[in-house]
Amino acid sequence: MNLILFGAPGSGKGTQSDLLVKKLGMIQLSTGDLFRNAIKNKTKLGIEAQTYMDEGQLVPDSIVINMVEEMLLTGVSNFILDGFPRTLAQAESLEELVLRLKINISKAIFLDVPSEVLLGRLTGRRVCTKCGAVYHIESKQSKVEDVCDSCGAELIQRNDDKQGVIQARLDAYQNFTSPLKEFYKKSGRYIEVNGNRNTEEVYQEIEKIVK
Ligand code: ADP
Ligand code: ZN
Repeated sequence: MNLILFGAPGSGKGTQSDLLVKKLGMIQLSTGDLFRNAIKNKTKLGIEAQTYMDEGQLVPDSIVINMVEEMLLTGVSNFILDGFPRTLAQAESLEELVLRLKINISKAIFLDVPSEVLLGRLTGRRVCTKCGAVYHIESKQSKVEDVCDSCGAELIQRNDDKQGVIQARLDAYQNFTSPLKEFYKKSGRYIEVNGNRNTEEVYQEIEKIVK
């Protein structure tokens, strides 16, 4: 099954996608991760995306859509779209793309988390510079401060998790991404999951939907 996982920044899309990968062998297609890798490797795509990301703005639709098209053209299946679509234009392009490629995306799962909770999750988040593992300074501490439990590399705060940038991301979410709820309700594929619970509880509910 192919599905879309969407929600505000900090709603847990990445965490839940990781679990679906580990436990069910699904394939995670994260546009945010792709951009971060492109930035690390200083590719043309990375250079284009970086200024937008550092300011908490969305990367322009045309860039994102081309990138997703390339991913889907590889023939991947059993995937989770994590962080895409994020605008109505992206959602519409995706409809056109899946028709053309004869791919079926049967569900769009929305992770619902109240905005006051999102803020605390984002400001406290720390990520591993090497393996990408995600920690939180209060709710998911590493054993040794600022060191990754799984690979020993350094933990840092993402540029776009810094105070001044978070609000821009939450605004972009409100303005551009939250209208997708209506879009997927109309097409009968919308499912809402309460994301304001512990990781495992949220995962159990998603796994039921997937199975
Ligand atoms: P989060 O959901 O926590 O904001 P992501 O890793 O999904 O984190 O995205 C980080 C940033 O990457 C976004 O703020 C945006 O600049 C860019 N980005 C990721 N996916 C998209 C997309 N589909 N459209 C536009 N920009 C995107
Ligand atoms: Zn690590």
